[in-house]
Amino acid sequence: MAGIQKFIVQKITEIAPDTKTLRLVPKEGKRFDFAPGQFITLRLIDPETQKPVPRSYSISSSPLEPNYLEITLSKEGKYSEQILGFKEGDELDLLGPAGSFGIDESKMKDVVLIAGGTGITPFASMVRYYGKKGAGPKITVIYSCRTAECLLFYGDFLKMAKQNPNIRIAPTITRPAESGPWDGRTGRIDGNYIREVVGDLSGKYFFACGPKEMLNAIEASLREIGVAQDKIIIERW
Ligand SMILES: Cc1cc2nc3c(=O)[nH]c(=O)nc-3n(C[C@H](O)[C@H](O)[C@H](O)COP(=O)(O)OP(=O)(O)OC[C@H]3O[C@@H](n4cnc5c(N)ncnc54)[C@H](O)[C@@H]3O)c2cc1C
Repeated sequence: MAGIQKFIVQKITEIAPDTKTLRLVPKEGKRFDFAPGQFITLRLIDPETQKPVPRSYSISSSPLEPNYLEITLSKEGKYSEQILGFKEGDELDLLGPAGSFGIDESKMKDVVLIAGGTGITPFASMVRYYGKKGAGPKITVIYSCRTAECLLFYGDFLKMAKQNPNIRIAPTITRPAESGPWDGRTGRIDGNYIREVVGDLSGKYFFACGPKEMLNAIEASLREIGVAQDKIIIERW
């Protein structure tokens, strides 16, 4: 991993209620190369102790746009709140890229990416990358959020799926009563839904990402429907 680099917050976009994407550019104007699925670590300063605090975020933008990187987060605790309070033009210290949570194209020809909430971020990078690049593995994205409004990157994903027939998007929302208009699937991601979307499991690799509790449930569902352990790749936050 490279050492600490200075980045500038170039653009902040609220992409869903309480969820922002920060576009970061290297201060020195250099390109930033990474693989889809990798993450960076921000070195924050605790306002009370003045001690450095690391917080990691998956890169949600595509490596095909190497002049910037984007991270997407919602408020969880103290430091995500600090990041969400950054303004355009602010400077920050960044480490990375790091991580090996990515599609090995030499053996993974058919992948299923499963996430809830902000766990979709590394998959956004993969979908944007392969969507534009054209060739690549077959990709099925199964993801959930509480409402249609917080289904992150949905418009972008639909665009990518239109451009690249290898990409398929299967969203579901868990609180339809609180949601705006939605005529898609409702309910949590479970074994039945995964089976329904994916059909035959053979030869498929299953990626899942996000907070621990949700991943435990997804991992259990995958095992329950008969996915072999060596076909399950997980990034726990
Ligand atoms: C490789 C990697 C990639 C990641 N990518 C992303 C990403 O793309 N997007 C994203 O949003 N996150 C991502 N994360 C998670 C992120 O790093 C942070 O963990 C997250 O933003 C929360 O940090 P925080 O400092 O705000 O919360 P913390 O203060 O560390 O709190 C963590 C959790 O504990 C709870 N908590 C805190 N204090 C208390 C208390 N006193 N009592 C009870 N509960 C408490 C908070 O509500 C929160 O849910 C990633 C993590 C890893 C390791």
